[in-house]
Amino acid sequence: RPGLHMEGVCLQHGDGTETVQALDNVDLVVRPGELAAIVGPSGAGKSSLLAVAGGLARPDRGTVTVAGIDITAASARTRAKLRREHIGFVFQSGNLVPALTALDQLRLPLRFRPRRERSGRSALALLEDVGMADKADRYPHQMSGGERQRVGIARALVTGPSVLLVDEPTAALDRARSHDIVRLLAREARQHHVAAVMVTHDHDVLEHCDTVYEMIDGRLAALG
Ligand code: ADP
Ligand code: ADP
Repeated sequence: RPGLHMEGVCLQHGDGTETVQALDNVDLVVRPGELAAIVGPSGAGKSSLLAVAGGLARPDRGTVTVAGIDITAASARTRAKLRREHIGFVFQSGNLVPALTALDQLRLPLRFRPRRERSGRSALALLEDVGMADKADRYPHQMSGGERQRVGIARALVTGPSVLLVDEPTAALDRARSHDIVRLLAREARQHHVAAVMVTHDHDVLEHCDTVYEMIDGRLAALG
């Protein structure tokens, strides 16, 4: 089962006295090459969904499979390996390391893998892909917001992940730049056969996504 599969996923936050049902019986399938968007009000459970899909939080119930591997049943060690090899994260404003050039941002995740696992894509080819090859030696403070986000996307893809988890990628961008970035995400997902899930408040960019879901009070529903 390639891609991302979530079935009957429930997650509760808090202790016995005050609990919040952050995820309430969530089913979600994202196929390789697909960009799925999740919209919904603040507090709806969108971050919780990304955390569970990324193996950062273990659900109370349900299963999550990434690239055919059930991460809910996996040991901490296997989950860490799965995150490293099969999951890429893209954050709000790129989350780049200030002291590294664009090219070194991409080399960094490769450096933390054993040599035999370095089967990811070439860093420079990916910078080319996202239109940043001519700015490979720039530091984050020399990049615009859109450029930082492009590098963040390239960095998430450099290890060759099966699943890409994207948190509010356009939060810091103007309208035109937002469209560019989500178009780029859709294209990269297709080109690299990655199952991409993007959480967003930005209804403007949904037109570039293959599927759209709405999350309310921990429940996920497809939007027509
Ligand atoms: P969203 O990303 O859509 O804003 P979240 O997944 O962050 O939603 O939060 C879902 C619900 O879970 C909210 O009611 C939030 O207050 C609650 N929540 C999130 N994280 C925690 C936590 N660590 N402890 C307690 N409650 C939490
Ligand atoms: P955008 O139109 O993408 O928001 P900006 O208007 O911020 O970009 O920047 C325009 C160009 O100037 C970009 O190509 C960017 O690389 C470059 N640039 C922005 N800030 C700096 C900087 N501090 N040093 C060098 N080049 C910069």
